[in-house]
Amino acid sequence: MTSSEELHKRRGAAVARGVGSTISSYVDHAGGGTITDVEGRQWIDFAAGIAVANVGNSAPRVVEAVKAQVERFTHTCFMVAPYESYVAVCEQLNAITPGGHEKRSALFNSGAEAVENAVKIARHATGRPAVVVFDHAYHGRTNLTMALTAKNMPYKHRFGPFAGEIYRVPMSYPLRDGGLSGAEAAARAIEMVEKQVGAENVAALLIEPIQGEGGFVVPAAGFLPALRQWATAAGVVFVADEIQTGFCRTGQWFACDHEDVVPDLITLAKGIAGGLPLAAVTGRAELMDAVHVGGLGGTYGGNPIACAAALASIETMRELDLAGAAQRIETVMVARLRTIAERDPRIAEVRGRGAMLAVELVQPGTLTPDPAAAAAVSAACHAAGLLTLTCGTYGNVLRFLPPLVISDDELARGLDILDAAFG
Ligand SMILES: *Cc1c(COP(=O)(O)O)cnc(C)c1O
Repeated sequence: MTSSEELHKRRGAAVARGVGSTISSYVDHAGGGTITDVEGRQWIDFAAGIAVANVGNSAPRVVEAVKAQVERFTHTCFMVAPYESYVAVCEQLNAITPGGHEKRSALFNSGAEAVENAVKIARHATGRPAVVVFDHAYHGRTNLTMALTAKNMPYKHRFGPFAGEIYRVPMSYPLRDGGLSGAEAAARAIEMVEKQVGAENVAALLIEPIQGEGGFVVPAAGFLPALRQWATAAGVVFVADEIQTGFCRTGQWFACDHEDVVPDLITLAKGIAGGLPLAAVTGRAELMDAVHVGGLGGTYGGNPIACAAALASIETMRELDLAGAAQRIETVMVARLRTIAERDPRIAEVRGRGAMLAVELVQPGTLTPDPAAAAAVSAACHAAGLLTLTCGTYGNVLRFLPPLVISDDELARGLDILDAAFG
């Protein structure tokens, strides 16, 4: 087999430099809570391909469903010749997303594409132009979603000009906003929208209920419900971007479920289909159906193989109670992270929900971000066989996203490596 070193050399000559990788080892196979590279070296997986492999890599039901579908047909385009699995995925999404109201769904290929379509639908349904987003937000890498994303490097730098009518307001970030309550932080954001944009000009308020790339920021209790209430009163479409938080990741089907927040539209991707590319917008029937026939779609959106994988993934989540698994991961991990935090003053906060957990690193005794510490701990983890990721506007947050099917033993081994990496 070709070595990682050889592959890395070939990659340098063939793959665009702009596409980066966290580690330089090349994957041979993966499953459960581990990844094995071409040298036969095993990694404990605390990344799950960025919160995608919630059911694990090559989950048995997914493999079976994909094999069966690939032999029947691979692509007819739902806009040309429709098929049952697309309809069945929409039925499932309408049933499991928050709220008992009448819903419709549409399927796409990537998270960014789902977010773009949620904005299209909200603008079309309301006839209004403006979209409100938050500090530290991440919504994708296409032109519109770069505009919606807060962080310049590496996502936006020199890629402008960006789409207009996007307005950014402060997030609730308990560690860094002086401990504003959820209600106070919401009032601050709302006042800014009303004074600077005008509620009657706002089509959509778009928010990650727990921010992903921006640093696993969990807003103060009451922040999301207050924004939800304001949006209802102002006729603004409340869009929850649950692309990273969805599909049992936070210990519920969706992060909005923790505070009983019911979004008008919800964007979905990542964990939806066990690793196959699929995304969706699910929402109120009257908003979704406002768009004229032919106004939504795309060549590959709701590809039959991806739909088969999604149905098998959702079934796996139900049958294995992966929301419960995420809660158990939280209990074990948080206890361990708190023990590390007690002895290491660089850890300013342990936060997150379910199997979406993080530690934010600072210079001891201050709130000054310490991205170098995050990079050093990450590097030590990687050297010892644990795959971790960093995130955050300041690059100083270590985040942990194990597959929800990780075994107790794999989780414990991963936490041992992490513990040792903090020194
Ligand atoms: C990953 C992500 C996206 C973009 O999804 P892609 O599939 O990479 O386009 C959008 N929003 C959130 C919250 C994400 O985590």
